[in-house]
Formats: sequence, structure tokens, C-alpha cells
Amino acid sequence: MKRFHQGKFQLVLEPTFCKGCSLCVKSCPPGILHLNGQGKVAVQAEDVRTKCIFCRLCEARCPDFAIWVVKSRDTVDQRDASPV
Ligand code: SF4
Ligand code: SF4
Repeated sequence: MKRFHQGKFQLVLEPTFCKGCSLCVKSCPPGILHLNGQGKVAVQAEDVRTKCIFCRLCEARCPDFAIWVVKSRDTVDQRDASPV
């Protein structure tokens, strides 16, 4: 499993689940996803940091649950604990 961070979001890839159908690659608005030499989904960490908008289209399109977005609970909890 590979995790890529940007602020309170993570993009998580599980290449062992990926069958290389490219649905996520074609769906990603900023075009940051690609298939590696083994035909598995891959992304550059710098592209996640600077271009991913965490729209979850890749997660929605993937038939094999090989890519998804996580929003950090810690950050949400800290924000929720702040005075309004
Ligand atoms: S969350 Fe959206 S922008 Fe980020 S990799 Fe997936 S499809 Fe692309
Ligand atoms: S949609 Fe899923 S199975 Fe298809 S290439 Fe992307 S991660 Fe792999």
C-alpha cells in the first residue's frame, strides 16, 4: 500500500488490487495518475502534493478498490475541538 499526503488528505494506492484498466487514469481531472511498467496504477508524490484535488473520481471509477482518498481524523478532530 502506498500513501501520499497533502494537508489533511491522503491518496492511497493498493497496486496489488489493480488490474491496469486505466479507468482512474482517464478520469483524473488534473491527469496525475498513470500505469507503471508493471501495468499498475502509480502517481508521483509531488503531483499529489501540488495537483490532486481529492475529488474521489478515481475512487468512484475503480472497479477493484485499488485507489481511494482518506481525510485525516486527527485534523478534523483538532478543528472540531477549536473554539468557534
Ligand atoms: S482524487 Fe481526483 S485529482 Fe486526486 S488522483 Fe483521484 S481523480 Fe485525480
Ligand atoms: S481504475 Fe482501479 S484497477 Fe483500473 S487502473 Fe485504476 S486503480 Fe487500477
